[in-house]
Amino acid sequence: MYEAVIGLEVHVQLSTNSKIFSGSSTAFGAEPNTQASLIDLGMPGVLPVPNAKVFEMAIKFGLAIDAKIEQESIFDRKNYFYPDLPKGYQISQFEKPIVGPGRVTIMLDNGTTKTINITRAHLEEDAGKSVHDVFDGMTGIDLNRAGTPLLEIVSEPELRSAKEAVAYLKVIHSIIRYLDISDGNMAEGSMRCDCNVSIQPKGSDVLGTRTEIKNVNSFRFVEKAIDTEIHRQIEILEDGGRVVQETRLYDPDKDETRPMRSKEEANDYRYFPDPDLLPVVLDSSFIEACNASLPELPATRRARYIAEYGITEYDAGVLVADRDLADYFAEVANISGEGKLAANWVMGSVLAELNQTSKSIIEFPVSAKQLSDLVSRIKDNTLNSKTAKTVFDALLTSDGEVDTIIEQEGLVQMTDTSAIETIVDEVISENSTQATNYRAAPADKRPKMLGFFVGQVMKKSQGKANPQAVNQILASKLAD
Ligand code: ADP
Ligand code: MG
Repeated sequence: MYEAVIGLEVHVQLSTNSKIFSGSSTAFGAEPNTQASLIDLGMPGVLPVPNAKVFEMAIKFGLAIDAKIEQESIFDRKNYFYPDLPKGYQISQFEKPIVGPGRVTIMLDNGTTKTINITRAHLEEDAGKSVHDVFDGMTGIDLNRAGTPLLEIVSEPELRSAKEAVAYLKVIHSIIRYLDISDGNMAEGSMRCDCNVSIQPKGSDVLGTRTEIKNVNSFRFVEKAIDTEIHRQIEILEDGGRVVQETRLYDPDKDETRPMRSKEEANDYRYFPDPDLLPVVLDSSFIEACNASLPELPATRRARYIAEYGITEYDAGVLVADRDLADYFAEVANISGEGKLAANWVMGSVLAELNQTSKSIIEFPVSAKQLSDLVSRIKDNTLNSKTAKTVFDALLTSDGEVDTIIEQEGLVQMTDTSAIETIVDEVISENSTQATNYRAAPADKRPKMLGFFVGQVMKKSQGKANPQAVNQILASKLAD
């Protein structure tokens, strides 16, 4: 009877070499406070100089989500006090962001799609980091991250479940990776997400009071944090209470959200245009150039893969979500000329192995060439699915050629029907009771019973017999 309403604010770290308003490096993992210039430290009298690259990146993102690119945008000061913000304000964009309303399409579990509107995307600088676990009883401040460029992407409150929120986040992740404007590494904080959650009676058009769960840093935690928060709010309402608008923190160890601070309002921040920075005025030709340099985006690539490789919408969706995986699949499909088989292997064994080892396709030990050789050997009947898996497992641990492995392991598929017939005859005579039962059984029971014989023949052939041939020969011999 309640339904959830979710809006996400996604912070994406733009992968520039230097910071948004200073020349310091943005490289991850440096010694604390070695990458903070006088500007990042907010020393008096220094002036910020915008990094032209961030405009190009923000515009590309805006174009990719069909958004209005604002030809004039303004940098504002968002004033607040926190130890990791020595200036006392964060430079952000408030009333006039660079990217206006846009939209993306997400895929739902039932195979349908849904459009999610994006309110805006604006540029801002990141703050430093408080380090709580290095000094006993004290907090350290690392200002390396201060001034790192961020693009904050704000969605409309149109997501209806934790799963939809994750689907949306994955689309954003996929777009920024295709555009190559961020490494999107959530574990390193290159993409972070604030989840705004409220609930309302089903069908209501009045939004309920929301809470905002700050800085969730993995897809899995986003799903869990939102689900947990939805349940918490439902319980409050069912007990006759009221949800308090506040900022909360998700604790993955306890799988609960906890209050952080009561919700601040925009006017608490005293936003005003930063007098040190001019309005950003974009030439149409600059926007045009950004448009011309856009790569093929996931949605386009998905449609192309369906048409070009004859694979399902679902498979294409999974394959293109990660640009590197999409490239890998395309290489396997192109070399082998077998789109569907290539998709089955990448979606099946390859993804299973990647999930299990928590590796990305870039680090995967089986090259696209090797997998395409494997696919070709299945296609030409040298391998069946079982022996192919044996070769695949060998490729995971050694660096050999597919054909060499097939030869060394003696895995060439038995397609010679007379050899298979001999084994079939043996199996039938060794299992005469089952054979009699089979022949006495009604037609609809037979296929399942045939499985037993297929299994025996495959075993006897050490997995090498061609399963189709085995099925055919068995069915005809047992039909007598
Ligand atoms: P703020 O800047 O104070 O966080 P915004 O109005 O800009 O507030 O909204 C931030 C995010 O909260 C947006 O993604 C928006 O979709 C979402 N949001 C706003 N109201 C609700 C609500 N009642 N329930 C869920 N999400 C909401
Ligand atoms: Mg907010």
